[in-house]
Amino acid sequence: MALEMRTVCERCETGVAAEGVAWICSYECTFCADCTAAMERTCPNCGGELVRRPRRVAT
Ligand SMILES: [Zn+2]
Ligand SMILES: [Zn+2]
Repeated sequence: MALEMRTVCERCETGVAAEGVAWICSYECTFCADCTAAMERTCPNCGGELVRRPRRVAT
């Protein structure tokens, strides 16, 4: 099972594009900026800290 970059917020199902702003925890739970702020940067699934996901670099 390969890990894939998720493109939907797990909380509100807003799309978070690969080149847009998204936040992830160490287990790759993925959230949009609004939800991350509302949850005070804490993952509701695992309790981990949410950090900004690096943007995919265009080449
Ligand atoms: Zn969201
Ligand atoms: Zn998590």
